Amino acid sequence: MSLFKASKERNFTVIVGCGRLGANLANTLSDAGESVLIIDNVEDAFRKLSPYFGGISLVGDATEIFVLEEANIKSATAVITVTNDDNTNILVAQLAKEYFGVEHVISRLYDPERECVYHEFNIYTICPAVLSAREIALLLNAKKSTEASE
Ligand code: AMP
Repeated sequence: MSLFKASKERNFTVIVGCGRLGANLANTLSDAGESVLIIDNVEDAFRKLSPYFGGISLVGDATEIFVLEEANIKSATAVITVTNDDNTNILVAQLAKEYFGVEHVISRLYDPERECVYHEFNIYTICPAVLSAREIALLLNAKKSTEASE
């Protein structure tokens, strides 16, 4: 039997990976009153969740179908894959999209060159290396324009 019964009418987000990013996101969504279930294969990882976290934590390897079924992923309105492994993020994102029919799937991706794989499967990606480079370039440009106008 599934741990979590959530209907599609209510926002139900499944987060895969309770690292710094996953835990932060889970805390933020839970504070906003949303239904959240977070999966990690290391129980200790859930210590990063706030004591006010109102969602569910599930210990398991998210690459296993039975773990995703236990999380009731098919009822999720969104799935976010943020483990520390691009292959795991790709695999779970694909399963969520193609096998379980989840509409919104977002993945963190360390290697920007693999972004094309995700686009093929209609999966939205966040790449910290690309975002950081863009932000640094903006800061540098802002600094240069300030100096030029002085
Ligand atoms: P971080 O490196 O801080 O973003 O943390 C990534 C998290 O993903 C860690 O807590 C890992 O235990 C978790 N993780 C890695 N592989 C899996 C997996 N197959 N299933 C569930 N969680 C995973």
